[in-house]
Amino acid sequence: MSERAGYEVGYDAAGQVRVERVTEPVAAEGGQPPVAFGDSPRSISGKMMTEGAAADGMGCHAPAEKMQAAARAAGNGDVLDQFARDYPRGPHDKPESMCPAFGSLRVGLRMRRVATVLSGSACCVYGLTFVSHFYGARRSVGYVPFNSESLVTGKLFEDIREAVHDLADPDRYDAVVVTNLCVPTASGVPLRLLPKEINGVRIIGIDVPGFGVPTHAEAKDVLAGAMLHYARAEIEAGPVPAPVGGKADRPTVALLGEMFPADPMMIGAMLAPMGLAAGPVVPTREWRELYAALDSGAVAAIHPFYAASVREFQAAGRPIVGSAPVGVDGTHDWLAAIGETFNVNPAQIAAAQNAFVPAVRGALAKAPVRGRITRSGYEGSELLVARLLIESGADVAYVGTACAASPWSKADKEWLEARGVVVKFRASLADDLAAADGLDPDLVIGTTPVVQHAKERAIPSLYFTNLISARPLMGPAGAGSLGEVVNAAIAGKARMDGMKEFFEGVGAGDSAGIWQGTPNLRPDFRALNQKKLDKAARAARAEEMI
Ligand code: SF4
Repeated sequence: MSERAGYEVGYDAAGQVRVERVTEPVAAEGGQPPVAFGDSPRSISGKMMTEGAAADGMGCHAPAEKMQAAARAAGNGDVLDQFARDYPRGPHDKPESMCPAFGSLRVGLRMRRVATVLSGSACCVYGLTFVSHFYGARRSVGYVPFNSESLVTGKLFEDIREAVHDLADPDRYDAVVVTNLCVPTASGVPLRLLPKEINGVRIIGIDVPGFGVPTHAEAKDVLAGAMLHYARAEIEAGPVPAPVGGKADRPTVALLGEMFPADPMMIGAMLAPMGLAAGPVVPTREWRELYAALDSGAVAAIHPFYAASVREFQAAGRPIVGSAPVGVDGTHDWLAAIGETFNVNPAQIAAAQNAFVPAVRGALAKAPVRGRITRSGYEGSELLVARLLIESGADVAYVGTACAASPWSKADKEWLEARGVVVKFRASLADDLAAADGLDPDLVIGTTPVVQHAKERAIPSLYFTNLISARPLMGPAGAGSLGEVVNAAIAGKARMDGMKEFFEGVGAGDSAGIWQGTPNLRPDFRALNQKKLDKAARAARAEEMI
């Protein structure tokens, strides 16, 4: 058995954070490094690092077709075909935001008593662990390094298996999740051959390549779906433990999609008049919740892109309801759809609607929004937020989402299009920027590059993930939650103009910054370099044809 080094951060049985020194301390200034498994010659250093980098020639910047061809040749064709069915592609064929694997990594890191191990290039793992700790992960990420030799000889798989055996301590973990990133997926490292369970600890191996999973949102579904699949097989095999808090006394609705913590409570309150309760939110925070989710009477696909999870729920015989109780129309229609799914008496459905729809209307009236807005994002709730903004009085001209269209977003799309909104699924960054430039918005709500683009043009803008997505959206609580932040941003137009004026003349692009003289731009050098790159690309294409 190999030795692990460093600190291990996790939860104890009571859910408290526990930090343990494993063997030798490692320099961890400023954050937790990934915990590396494997013999010391395979550590991220010296010669091995160089070889690892060579094996890493296929990454985000490699042509997706090449990566796909390699993965198929390595026996991963079925996985790619399933991804293509679950996550249909759009205009862009590779991630335009962060690495997709961040989505599944985050889902694993947020679950109690679950260990996560990454298998991939050191640079990918560095970026993923950095971002996960930036977003407050409270435990270590396991890492099995590789180099060209261990990849091609199959030693990497042996190292992963050894790491999994090292980790599988039932006192600490319910499950260990191992994720193949791009290069191990393209090389066919067969995680499916890992033991399904060691000492009672479930082992879950998933492939999350950037050339197969288009967004990090959909990568959440890859892990959530794999866990539901495992839990469903356990249920079929025999009795499973009840939820920690006991079984609900009413039929429940499982909620699909990460949402603001108060939203499930609001949904529960709206379901109560129909004799129903809110079930677990999937992705779940602990293993047992998976059983309770599968035991729910129906599933609300609040975020509409969870294709693999929906497949598992449908295999368990659970009906799926799309859209969400957002705004006046959304709340009215969603309560009716849920009530009909459970065959609730129409009078009870009407009671729920009468209790909450007027409250939503009242909350919207108290926080009106005036102005033209474009909005884009990759969370899955883009269409729902647009509905809420429109019912608040905003003129929403464009909604772009990085996710694909699905049956569960159909009602939202139709509602928006009936009000003249351009809805773009699988929107590219170019689409979002064109909308921000061409539709003369008073406010742009979007991803980091879209917000940056808008700010450079003195258009008020809000970063969707931190400022909008982190607010309640459902029922009366969500109805008034956006007005304040949106109106404050729109009112900041004069400040944006002032900043633009202040920075006027400091240059842009190559010449941005403070210069003592005029920047020495050499477009001729750039043209020459471009010629060389074009020539190399032509040579590579010609080689491919031979
Ligand atoms: S794992 Fe993520 S960061 Fe690494 S090459 Fe693939 S998409 Fe890029």
